[in-house]
Amino acid sequence: MSEVETKPAVLILLGPPGAGKGTQARMLEERFGLVQLSTGDMLRAAVAAGTPAGLAAKAVMEAGGLVSDEIVLGILRERLAAPDLKAGVILDGFPRTAGQAEALDKLLAYNGQRVTAAISLEVDDEAMIARVAGRYTCAACGEGYHDQFKLPAVAGTCDKCGGTEFKRRADDNAETARARLEAYHAQTAPLIAHYGRLGVLETIDAMDSIDAVASGLGSIVQRVSA
Ligand code: AMP
Repeated sequence: MSEVETKPAVLILLGPPGAGKGTQARMLEERFGLVQLSTGDMLRAAVAAGTPAGLAAKAVMEAGGLVSDEIVLGILRERLAAPDLKAGVILDGFPRTAGQAEALDKLLAYNGQRVTAAISLEVDDEAMIARVAGRYTCAACGEGYHDQFKLPAVAGTCDKCGGTEFKRRADDNAETARARLEAYHAQTAPLIAHYGRLGVLETIDAMDSIDAVASGLGSIVQRVSA
């Protein structure tokens, strides 16, 4: 049987902190076999490992600012070169600046590719602060929870893997969330127009329930990948 070679989908999730990018990227990963690439996760791993990039990024992340394009592009380039990305990728938290968006366009063009869709998760600012300030994850499997909106069915036990340890990000507090939201509006929101000009922009109301947003995103992914 001959296989037609298809180009891997490159999906971008745009949205402020708390919009649900990570949760939704993980769900799309499971449903469509795409690979979630979160620059935030990569940077947190670099900080934990104490690499030069991690040491340079730590204070900026704790203050809710944006890490330099040079550092972010450095870690992302390495990851994009890995051979497990055949089915396509969901970029979660990247690009966040005009410089990163241009670098991504160039990198993809070099490989004869382009962004398949940039999906903007539209949300209300104040609700985002509440969402971010109460969230935590299972230390074993990464399943997300929230003090108010999503508690485990059995207190202290992860619904998904049965793990009993949970963790909170150092930057998930109301003060840092505000700084992150400001960085989003100043530097990342303008990218919505960039992807509009490229004709690949999609928007979704992300104030809806997690399942409703997942279903809407699933329809977009099926349509743009067809
Ligand atoms: P996130 O997990 O996407 O919320 O990212 C957490 C923090 O990592 C952000 O507040 C930034 O300090 C940093 N970060 C993650 N992705 C980027 C990026 N693409 N550009 C600059 N800084 C980033």
